[in-house]
Amino acid sequence: MSNENTNGHNMLVQVKNLKTHFFLTEGIVRAVDGVNFYIDRGRTLGVVGESGCGKSVTARSIMNMIRPPGRNVAGQVIYHRQKKEAQGSTVTEEIDLLTLEPMSAEMRSIRGGEFSMIFQEPRASLSPLHTIGTQIMEGLKLHMDIDDEEARQRAIEQLQRVNIPKAEERIDAYAHQLSGGMCQRAMIALALACQPALLIADEPTTSLDVTTEAQILNLMRELQDTFHTSIMYITHNMAVIAEIAQRVLVMYMGKDVELAPVDALFYDPRHPYTRALLRSIPRIDDEREMLAVMRGNVPDPYALPTGCPFHPRCESRLRVCSQPVEVPYVEVSPGHFVRCHLYAGGG
Ligand code: SF4
Repeated sequence: MSNENTNGHNMLVQVKNLKTHFFLTEGIVRAVDGVNFYIDRGRTLGVVGESGCGKSVTARSIMNMIRPPGRNVAGQVIYHRQKKEAQGSTVTEEIDLLTLEPMSAEMRSIRGGEFSMIFQEPRASLSPLHTIGTQIMEGLKLHMDIDDEEARQRAIEQLQRVNIPKAEERIDAYAHQLSGGMCQRAMIALALACQPALLIADEPTTSLDVTTEAQILNLMRELQDTFHTSIMYITHNMAVIAEIAQRVLVMYMGKDVELAPVDALFYDPRHPYTRALLRSIPRIDDEREMLAVMRGNVPDPYALPTGCPFHPRCESRLRVCSQPVEVPYVEVSPGHFVRCHLYAGGG
């Protein structure tokens, strides 16, 4: 199988019909329930949706980090891994990460080495017991054949690269001694230390002020240009998506409801949920007194509506939408997919 899709993209990761469910005493939560997308090499995929729509569980499934009572019950996460041959040529191998044991040596080498993740709250993700430097050096030594001295030098370079001033001194600081913005930079340095092929950023700027957020977004773009890293950027903020992503996945109640190039999503959104999300963004030229509010509430995850899970809130619903039938997933234009009965006959 080629790692080029129909539009000639160069895929790094391909997620096919991913289903991740949680088996709780109260019932089954279908946190991710049949999601399809791909992440191109050196590009950014934005993932948006309300809290509880399955964005973070999708990210953790890609990292093969789902633990009981959660389980990946179906689907594939195909990593198109590039390897250098002895003669200098590059070959691509395909690995379905969900077939690997989560704690196997191969999966641990991919997670933390080739795939990294940064989280919403860096202080909670960095160890309070170890200095920033020790944490970066440990990651480097685990994935590279280098000694303490070289690891420390590389860790300082990483901190400089993410614009932490006086990196030679701050390398010996603990997370509680740094500001929120500095902590997030340190987390990015830690995540990028081994120059991963994929960086998953799960709401990395939500707890920061807008100035620091803009700096972090700039930094991620610069690092992507330098290292050609692919980024999966998870957020509920459509304005951030417009800044950073080339393609966007919109999720609702564990489903991929729309996947599109960023311009198509903003200028020609097709799914009623995406349209409602975009209507709820404040605009500087907006003369309305009140922002549009999406009607209804997110459904109970233990009792999802039959048919399209968005139908109780949808202003465009058809009679078929509440019927227990599969909602069609349609390519309405090249690379623009929508899961909705409105497009059953095509774009
Ligand atoms: Fe609305 Fe029906 Fe489309 Fe769901 S399938 S988004 S209810 S029109």
